Amino acid sequence: MGTDQDDPWKRLGMTRCLARSKGRAQGFSSLLLALALGTPAAAQQADSTDRLPLRQRLVAEQLVARGIRDSATLAAMLAVPRHEFVPPDVQRLAYADTPLPIGHDQTISQPYIVALMTELIHPSPGDRVLEVGTGSGYQAAVLAAAGCRVWTIEIFEALANEAQARLQRLGYPDVAVRHGDGYAGWPEKAPFDAIVVTAGAEAIPSALVHQLAPGGRLVMPVGDPYTDQRLVLAEKDAGGRVTTQYLVPVRFVPLLRGVR
Ligand code: SAH
Repeated sequence: MGTDQDDPWKRLGMTRCLARSKGRAQGFSSLLLALALGTPAAAQQADSTDRLPLRQRLVAEQLVARGIRDSATLAAMLAVPRHEFVPPDVQRLAYADTPLPIGHDQTISQPYIVALMTELIHPSPGDRVLEVGTGSGYQAAVLAAAGCRVWTIEIFEALANEAQARLQRLGYPDVAVRHGDGYAGWPEKAPFDAIVVTAGAEAIPSALVHQLAPGGRLVMPVGDPYTDQRLVLAEKDAGGRVTTQYLVPVRFVPLLRGVR
């Protein structure tokens, strides 16, 4: 006879929460279960049960309902404890559908945008990924939980140090944090299978295009930060030719110059 401990649904606390989710999201409950149980990188994160019902709801209502389908991305969003990445005064909003302040006039992005950027690079285990704009370290943790090896650069020294300590404490050994100006990328670690830039600029910095491997994907907000910024996906083919697609409108903080 089975007990709650034997029942993976109950073990993950999924039945109740997913039963409450609406519409298209409901059809994805079994997919989510498979994700939660089947992705080794996500499963490694020790804190995967703390506030899990809040993340289950976030995944169903903010991500699956809006069309996020990549299994590694959904598993990572389910696994990473977003509340650990925000300041105490906004922790109660950690799973809300919104960006949040993280100090130094910077923000942690809305969960949907983090998931969308992750999905757009098609993360697969062992991918080498550069992130520009570490901030809290949340996007880097999501990439790591999706199986990637991550190098991330932050221009504010205090944020870089905090993110590094946080990622170490939470158990993300596959993330390396550097304090510096991400315009130059991280040439010693190039080429990268993917590059995620989480601050906006008028154009994709050329150093980042150079550091993208053939077959690689780069995603970043491009355009005027206050009027017309869009997420851009740039793909480099096997011959080194780059094509870009302008996707959804977004609002990101600007990519700054000069370390702070
Ligand atoms: N990815 C972050 C949020 C990004 S906010 C997270 O998950 O929390 C954008 C971040 O980019 C800020 O922390 C900002 O300080 C940083 N930033 C801005 N310009 C930069 C640059 N040139 N190089 C590296 N980081 C930069």
